[in-house]
Amino acid sequence: MADLIHIRNFCIIAHIDHGKSTLADRLLELTHTVAAREMRNQVLDQLDIERERGITVKLAPVRMKWKDYELNLIDTPGHVDFSYEVSRSLAAVEGALLVVDASQGIQAQTLANLELAKRQGLTVIPIINKIDLPNIELDTITNELTHLLSCRAADILRVSAKDGTGIEHVIDRIINDIPPPPGKLEAPLRALIFDSIYDPYQGVVVYVRLVDGRVTSGQDLVLTMTKSNTSALAVGMFTPKLIPTNNLQAGEIGYIVTGLKTVRQARVGDTITTPGHQITPLPGYREIQPMVFAGFFPAEGASYEHLREAMDKLRLNDAAVQTEPEHSPALGSGLRCGFLGLLHLDIVRERLQREYQLPVIITVPSVAYHVYINSPSPDLVVVRSPLELPDQSKVIRIEEPIMNIRIVTPADRLGGVLETLQKRRGRLTNIEYLDQYRAVVHGSMPLASMLTDFYDTLKSVSAGYASINYELSGYQSTDVIRLDIIVAGEAVESLASIVYRDESYRVGRQIVESLKTVLPRQQFEVKIQAAIGGTIIAAERIPPLRKDVTAKLYGGDVTRKRKLLEKQKKGKRRMKTLGRVAIPQSAYFAVLKR
Ligand code: GDP
Ligand code: MG
Repeated sequence: MADLIHIRNFCIIAHIDHGKSTLADRLLELTHTVAAREMRNQVLDQLDIERERGITVKLAPVRMKWKDYELNLIDTPGHVDFSYEVSRSLAAVEGALLVVDASQGIQAQTLANLELAKRQGLTVIPIINKIDLPNIELDTITNELTHLLSCRAADILRVSAKDGTGIEHVIDRIINDIPPPPGKLEAPLRALIFDSIYDPYQGVVVYVRLVDGRVTSGQDLVLTMTKSNTSALAVGMFTPKLIPTNNLQAGEIGYIVTGLKTVRQARVGDTITTPGHQITPLPGYREIQPMVFAGFFPAEGASYEHLREAMDKLRLNDAAVQTEPEHSPALGSGLRCGFLGLLHLDIVRERLQREYQLPVIITVPSVAYHVYINSPSPDLVVVRSPLELPDQSKVIRIEEPIMNIRIVTPADRLGGVLETLQKRRGRLTNIEYLDQYRAVVHGSMPLASMLTDFYDTLKSVSAGYASINYELSGYQSTDVIRLDIIVAGEAVESLASIVYRDESYRVGRQIVESLKTVLPRQQFEVKIQAAIGGTIIAAERIPPLRKDVTAKLYGGDVTRKRKLLEKQKKGKRRMKTLGRVAIPQSAYFAVLKR
């Protein structure tokens, strides 16, 4: 165990794909933290889904030893949907390595994460990564970074996380620049919970940063916010595997096995102490506001109980998800879940499937609308599902969430970016130039119009170079209506959506067209219709799979042939009326693809 002077705690932050996890690999290698035979690319991406998609979605702590020093690193995700993971990580450390890809330069999450780090008062070490790549403009990027950070060019490290160039300098700078953690060893225990996982055998395991005091296994504990009493069943560190050490002390990062069973008892942001001490709780975290909502219902073979339990456990490991019970006439009991964005939603869906073997039906994602009604009495209702949208006769006014956005784009792509913004009901506030090559567009736009393909459009108008960051700015009046989708004569609740009235015809047409490509063909003809308040506004047909029932007949027995075809027709008619078309997972994305 190291004394405070010999501890350094830091995060790695960057835009997505700029090489955070790969840089962590090199640090782990150099410090011999992970045995060579266990080393693999992005070793801190431990979830199957992270490895398969090549993105980090979870913060990942790990302890390294270097000479007399104990270095606690937390790798973080780069995508805007996971920024809560970043802000929680930053609150547990004193420094941040800000990584910038030499071939991409400063991007939207570079700026956003840097701001978060500065707000926490952290020491920032700028690093240009991927210097092994050909055709990179090192001087340009160095220039941009010196302006952004008000630092000297010599302060910016140049590394290749791929081939290991410059990695030792990174460690030197961590030790020299980042201050050792403040904290009092002899004071009563104060530990910040910055993450947690559910272990089927041990219950809730909390990830903690000890600010003051120490904790030993067996010790009694109190969680300040929830007033839960428990004891430390085990205490340890991350290597990145959880390894028991029996104690942790001020300044260190590690885990405590609490034996608690539910997310309600062990919340991220809570302060852990020991019984009988009056302590000032640590600031913790602001409650995170989910932005995108969808109904999750157990698919065939799964039960509501199963879904609720799985979601409770998953929420321990994903503090940004919110849930509340929801009931749908067609889909039964389920949960209305709130997420930070569409990628977040999709990751949770896939984790339910992978980690809990739980297939779910998901309704088309929606933002939260503020609906002012005058009946039965004047009131404001928050509508997170198309099915909850009150009857128009009762509605006085509807407001939708507006986001403050910041788009970083190459200056020569500005035209396309601004045009996209305008087409999506966005508003420009001002344009700022990092230098002659790179512009930052500040503005606002409705979250609802960001959900429908905005990101892809932005990428395509900027040849892949523009990036966006956003946060809620407020609510604004809007004119929206519910669009229903009818498949084979049945309204499909999970495909209903809320759309702008003045776009409803175009959108209805686009949705039925894209559904035509994702719904499977049936033995019978399937009609897909879009409707508003019972009026059909668009329709498509998926032709039947025509089985050749006459194939087995030889020769020209016409009557027999006709008989078989008649029989087939009858069968088809029956299926049409009984027929329910199984809606594949891809359908809800098809509704958003316009
Ligand atoms: P993260 O999203 O910031 O964690 O980025 P990753 O570490 O997952 O890396 C993203 C991609 O960049 C991967 O394909 C890496 O192999 C690649 N990469 C990372 N560092 C370097 C580097 O120094 N040079 C090159 N050429 N590629 C790199
Ligand atoms: Mg990563």
